[in-house]
Amino acid sequence: MTIKDFRFDGSKKLKVKDMPTDAGDSKGKKSELVKQTQANLLRASELQERLYAAGREGLVIAIQARDAAGKDSLIKKVFSGLNPAALEVHSFKSPSSTELSHDYLWRINAALPPRGKIGVFNRSQYEDVLVVRVHHMERGYKLAPRCLVDDFFPRRYAQLRSWEDYLYENGIRMVKIFLNVSKDEQRKRFLERIERDEKHYKLSTNDMVERAAWDAYDEAFEDAINATATPRSPWYVIPADSKWYTRYLVSQLLVDTLEEMDPQFPTIDPAEAARIPQMLEELGYHEDMQTKAAEEKTADAQET
Ligand code: ATP
Ligand code: MG
Repeated sequence: MTIKDFRFDGSKKLKVKDMPTDAGDSKGKKSELVKQTQANLLRASELQERLYAAGREGLVIAIQARDAAGKDSLIKKVFSGLNPAALEVHSFKSPSSTELSHDYLWRINAALPPRGKIGVFNRSQYEDVLVVRVHHMERGYKLAPRCLVDDFFPRRYAQLRSWEDYLYENGIRMVKIFLNVSKDEQRKRFLERIERDEKHYKLSTNDMVERAAWDAYDEAFEDAINATATPRSPWYVIPADSKWYTRYLVSQLLVDTLEEMDPQFPTIDPAEAARIPQMLEELGYHEDMQTKAAEEKTADAQET
């Protein structure tokens, strides 16, 4: 399977239960794919340099997942090879009362990277149609009755679609990842968090509440992804049971997206170009060349 098999851009419907959570046939190719991941990350950093130098387009990678699907370690391993000066990572937690008193995209807009940079969202605007929908949080919101309508979530899907379109048309691309972990693998990772002292800090009793709502999340992910997957802002439903495979696929996605964006180093400003002879003069370039030529002549004479 290639990264294209995990892409959803509106041309096919997602059924979460039909998507693999493990490496499948690729298991036997682990060492080759791990090597390919390294090569992809090198290529991604070259392309990021161009993106930063060009400063014409920005990219947001929004990562959504269940607990223990590996968001943190993915960010650590895949994005640490990029230039931190041109990277912004933002984690979205439960909204504060100030954030809740604004429209839900307010805090997301504030976290968008400028053109030229890559933004990584650890959770994102999609929490507002996932956790909020699963727990009917909107019912507790201080909102005018006209806003709390039956099609509250379909309205939000449409808002997200047009907001992402708006961003695209203004030079910011949004690519969305759903890290798809299996229920059994999540169980193992929770147990590991309990067993290992250095993982205790990741334990949260709330994780069990979310786990109990597994099927409701499947439905919420499915509806949100089917309603917001577009060619401009695609979703990728990535298997998350094997971390090496997740990293490989995300490194591939990053390279493919950046290649598609095709950033180019800017050409030199004509006024700057006109100054080059003067700069060469000031830097003593011609004397250097003369010295080098003289040295080469001497070396040639000694050889013959
Ligand atoms: P880890 O996976 O390491 O536990 P995390 O991303 O789960 O990290 P936490 O601080 O444990 O970080 O959880 C953040 C919580 O905030 C999640 O339960 C998430 O659902 C919740 N959250 C984020 N955005 C919203 C939102 N818009 N409305 C309600 N809850 C939200
Ligand atoms: Mg958590």
